[in-house]
Amino acid sequence: MLSLKTHKLVFFVRCAESVPCPCCGEQLAVIGSRKRKCRNSDGETKVLIIRRLRCKHCRRIHHELPHCLVPYQRYESSCIESVVLKDSRSSDIAADDSTLYRMRMWFNTLLPYLLGCLNAIAYRLGQAPVEEPSVSPLSAHQRIGCYVGNEPGWLARIVRPIANSNLWVHTRSAFLSANT
Ligand SMILES: [Zn+2]
Repeated sequence: MLSLKTHKLVFFVRCAESVPCPCCGEQLAVIGSRKRKCRNSDGETKVLIIRRLRCKHCRRIHHELPHCLVPYQRYESSCIESVVLKDSRSSDIAADDSTLYRMRMWFNTLLPYLLGCLNAIAYRLGQAPVEEPSVSPLSAHQRIGCYVGNEPGWLARIVRPIANSNLWVHTRSAFLSANT
């Protein structure tokens, strides 16, 4: 078990893009903020101040999603990227083995759903969906490459359109409850 540093850094999140309401597509108004913790690859905890937004039409509350975060996940998106596509011994993230194992389980369970969402969004926007080559089974790495490319930031490129379309699911309840 690695000891985690407790030094805290606070960051204010201001997304440059203006995202419409994930539920109804109308405008969001800023109504406040809340704290969100995240961990980087050294295990350091950062505190992000994230804006609370309310839809002017349907009145639902949403929270800004910074590029470095994945909903409901504590580690930064870049950490998750480097963990989930590697084998269990080669990670450089300061986390214990069970945390890394859970992260990989979470990702492998969720990936088919996420890629299905990306295609559903493409249909909705009138774009051609991704057709994966059917000649041989593709690795997770290859499948991701087909959809969003493998350059760093691929997880954010998967997560953001899905979260912004209100298609993100809380995986503990949706997929993993049978295993607990
Ligand atoms: Zn709305």
